[in-house]
Amino acid sequence: MKKSKKTVAICLAAGQGRRMASKVHKQYLLLGDKPILSYSLEAFESSPVAEVVLVTGVGEEEYCRKEIVEAGGFTKVKTIVAGGKERYHSVYRGLVAADHCDYVLIQDGARPFLTEEIIERCIEGAAVYGACVAGMPVKDTIKLADSQLNIESTPDRSRVWMIQTPQAFSFPLIKEAYDRLMALEACGKKMEIPVTDDAMVVEYFLGEKVHLVEGSYENIKITTPEDMKVAEAFLAGSRAVQEQKQ
Ligand code: C5P
Repeated sequence: MKKSKKTVAICLAAGQGRRMASKVHKQYLLLGDKPILSYSLEAFESSPVAEVVLVTGVGEEEYCRKEIVEAGGFTKVKTIVAGGKERYHSVYRGLVAADHCDYVLIQDGARPFLTEEIIERCIEGAAVYGACVAGMPVKDTIKLADSQLNIESTPDRSRVWMIQTPQAFSFPLIKEAYDRLMALEACGKKMEIPVTDDAMVVEYFLGEKVHLVEGSYENIKITTPEDMKVAEAFLAGSRAVQEQKQ
C-alpha cells in the first residue's frame, strides 16, 4: 500500500511587530473576536496538514499554549518552539522541530486570510514541483531605485508578482537550503540581500526553481496600523457572505 505523504505547517509568530507601533505583538491583536494568529491555525485545522509547529517569541510559549492553542481548540498544534532574532532564524527553529515529514508549509502568522484552497494549492505545488510559493500579480508598476531614490529600472509588470505565504517545499530540500544558510552565518557571512522569504533561500543555495501558485488579494500580511483597517473590512465582507448563505 502506498504511504500517504505527511505535511507539517510551520506557523511563524515570533516577530516583534515594530511597524505596528502597538504594545501587544501584532499576531496577538484582536481581529474581530479572535487574535490574528488564530485565523491561520483555524485554516490549518480544517486542511490536509497533519501537524502544526507554532513558533512564538522567546518566553511567549506558555501564553500561546494556553491563550491561543488551548483556548481555540487547535488540536493540530503539536509543538511550540521559541523563534529567533530574524524571520529566517524562526523558520530554522521550526524546521528543526518539524523533522520527519514529506512537505512543509511555512506560514506568516500575521496573515489571517489563509484559506483551505490556498493551502491545498500549496501542498499540490510542493508535491509536483518540490518548491512553490503563493503569490498574486502586482497591480501597480514596480520600480527598482538606488539609495538616492533615483529609479534604476522598471521590470515588465506582467512578470512581477507579490509573494505571500504559505511557501511550500519538500522537507529535505528546504532543510538543506536552510542548513547552508545557517552554515554561512556560522562563518560570519551573509547573503547579499536580506532574507525576506523562504523561496530566496532555495533559489540562492540550491539554484532550484520555485513555482508560483495562486494566493489571493485578501491574503495580506498585517504589518502597519492601516493593514488592520483593511483586514477588518475583509472580515466584515466575509461574515456578510456567510450570513447570506445561512
Ligand atoms: O514582520 P515580518 O514580515 O518579518 O513578519 C513575517 C512573519 O514572520 C510574522 O508572522 C512574524 O511574526 C514572523 N517572524 C518571526 N520571527 C522573527 C520575525 C518575524 O517568526 N524574528
